[in-house]
Amino acid sequence: MAESAAPLMTSLQAIVGDFHVITSAVDTAPYVTDWRERYRGQARAVVRPGSTAEVAAVARVCAEHGVPIVPQGGNTGLCGGATPHAGGDEIVMQLSRLNRVRDIDTENATMTVEAGVPLAAVQHAAAEAGLLLPLSLAAEGSCAIGGNLSTNAGGTAVLRYGNARELVLGLEIVLADGRVWDGLRGLRKDNTGYDLKQLFLGSEGTLGIITAAVLKLFPRPQTSATAWVAVKDVAAAVRLLGVVRQALGDRLTGFELISADCVTLTRAQFRALPDPLPGHHWYVLLQADDASANSPLLAQVEAALADCLSDELARDAVIAQSEAQAAELWNLREHISEAQKREGPNMKHDISLPVSRIAAFLARAKEALDTALPGVRYVVFGHLGDGNLHYNLSAPVGVPSSTFIEQTSRANRIVYDLVAELGGSFSAEHGVGQMKRTEMERYKAPIELELMRRMKRALDPHGILNPGKVL
Ligand SMILES: Cc1cc2nc3c(=O)[nH]c(=O)nc-3n(C[C@H](O)[C@H](O)[C@H](O)COP(=O)(O)OP(=O)(O)OC[C@H]3O[C@@H](n4cnc5c(N)ncnc54)[C@H](O)[C@@H]3O)c2cc1C
Repeated sequence: MAESAAPLMTSLQAIVGDFHVITSAVDTAPYVTDWRERYRGQARAVVRPGSTAEVAAVARVCAEHGVPIVPQGGNTGLCGGATPHAGGDEIVMQLSRLNRVRDIDTENATMTVEAGVPLAAVQHAAAEAGLLLPLSLAAEGSCAIGGNLSTNAGGTAVLRYGNARELVLGLEIVLADGRVWDGLRGLRKDNTGYDLKQLFLGSEGTLGIITAAVLKLFPRPQTSATAWVAVKDVAAAVRLLGVVRQALGDRLTGFELISADCVTLTRAQFRALPDPLPGHHWYVLLQADDASANSPLLAQVEAALADCLSDELARDAVIAQSEAQAAELWNLREHISEAQKREGPNMKHDISLPVSRIAAFLARAKEALDTALPGVRYVVFGHLGDGNLHYNLSAPVGVPSSTFIEQTSRANRIVYDLVAELGGSFSAEHGVGQMKRTEMERYKAPIELELMRRMKRALDPHGILNPGKVL
């Protein structure tokens, strides 16, 4: 590749200003380590462009110098996708200065936002306009919308509104050579050739840099019901899902499964959190919402749960009596990942299965893992309504976490082979990053991998964008 006349750093500083090219080890440290502190890399610099034009200019300079770019939003990803490699030849492109809500079109029910806006701020802006951006996840205060779209994030309202990719109408993309594709269309119908935006959604920064997006907005719920339900077992939770869906239709927004061990672990780290129904093994946290203020939703949720209690699918249930109580219940759910992080290293499996096979998976996986890793502790929770489990494993009592995680490859084989056998996926919503490249090789069909590699070569022939991630 032809070397540009000006040295790399001088060019980068000329584009974004000296202050936004960070090179000291102390200052780059937070950007070269992932949220779980599982991956630590090095970078020539962390570069913070403040506009699409600056992103494009930085990409052009990097292409000229053959310097790889690791795009980064809120750095809350759980697969090491936003962490540079150890070699130190990449730059981290930190996008949080792209922080404007460019437009809200209430009649079209869309908003145009820049990639670096934190998800919570996007939700807030939509709410101020009287509408709802339904993407919601525990990291929403820290993650950025560009990161959400690049990982095709899921979260707690997928059952009703779909994954991040289903909320996008248009994208603005900076390509590997620095050219800009303005695809910021707010159209719900547009059959003019290939749907290019879908390539970039979920591609984890390997095909293009998302600088802005047009998102779909929805009516804000006027009536809500939140319930914490103790269920007999996981099979009962799956049947409860069917009953509640039948009763509520698409007003069922979220349906989360939480094991009693998750509650214990989370409350051990966050003592102020509630223990809504102690003494059971499995819980469901369900959320239903209606856009009408006069909805009989609460009565319908109560009736559905009463049926489930008399059928013994449910053992007990609490329905939140106020927004504050509902928030408390969600708080418990949303602190599980942070509590696990505080407890020490663990093995995470973000898997999906047909909902009908989840109970069988749990029974078979437990049998195999109890034999392979005696005493292993199961930290199982997730978005049951979407067939997505966070099937996490912690060290047996008395075994240091650092020793336990040496067994990760062995545990992964057991879990992912079974997931594959049952028709599931080894990555439901977190992506592949650098963590699950081995799984890509093992579980994806060769023809699928070949097509992905061809796309990568077509869009990024010199391997500038996030090399060594996904593929
Ligand atoms: C406590 C906690 C709870 C979580 N819960 C969920 C959950 O419920 N559902 C879920 O799906 N995820 C969840 N996550 C994972 C994480 O929050 C999501 O993957 C999120 O979408 C990442 O956004 P980010 O801005 O932090 O991206 P980053 O971590 O900064 O980046 C993620 C990937 O996207 C790329 N990227 C970032 N920005 C851009 C851009 N503008 N253009 C191109 N590529 C880009 C990066 O290179 C990297 O490959 C959770 C994480 C935590 C810590």
